[in-house]
Amino acid sequence: MSIEENLNNIEENLNRKKVVLVAVSKTKPVKDIQSAYDVGIRDFGENKVQELINKEPELPKDIRWHLIGHLQRNKVKYIVGKVYLIHSLDSVRLLNELEKHYSAEKLTANTLIQINIGREESKTGIYEENLEGLLEACESCTSVVVKGLMAVIPKGNEESCRFYFKKMKSIFDNLKKREFKNISMDVLSMGMTHDYKIAVEEGANLVRIGEGIFGKRNYNK
Ligand SMILES: *Cc1c(COP(=O)(O)O)cnc(C)c1O
Repeated sequence: MSIEENLNNIEENLNRKKVVLVAVSKTKPVKDIQSAYDVGIRDFGENKVQELINKEPELPKDIRWHLIGHLQRNKVKYIVGKVYLIHSLDSVRLLNELEKHYSAEKLTANTLIQINIGREESKTGIYEENLEGLLEACESCTSVVVKGLMAVIPKGNEESCRFYFKKMKSIFDNLKKREFKNISMDVLSMGMTHDYKIAVEEGANLVRIGEGIFGKRNYNK
């Protein structure tokens, strides 16, 4: 199916529920992004800083770029002013680096805190028990705001997916009840090509879909 047909199918599932669709364009050429843009998509996700900053100048300026992959501290300087939402805030050290670079440019970094909800060693994201420390540090920032939470859940069957999505929703709801400086719980970013419907049923209001839109990725090119 074409990019346009894929998008029509996915949006039919999402629009009724007011869920934001981020089209994950990693490894895909600029022309594919342009095709999705031409049928109305404005939110695109990349997982690598280098790839994002290579593509960004070649595409329309009203695209909202989402950095969905791990962000190394030494790469922060490249993304200031170019990214709409950083989904991968996961440490106080990264927070401090964002604060330093964004305050120097008098800009604000919009972020989601990424939680390693499945406690997988292979994945990034903060462990639940370290969340309070990060939240506390966020409250004293002047140039970083937290808009919600993000997770990449462990691979598994439907039951397992639901379990992790529910866990995330419960953390999200509990934080939403509290009052913080610089922190609001507006965005719950979870769900990808194979599990986004379950994620939405469990409360996601932003999903990140790559292969379901652009087709299989080829990493050997
Ligand atoms: C690649 C990626 C996605 C999209 O995955 P698909 O299975 O292609 O939908 C979503 N989130 C993150 C963090 C990713 O790296």
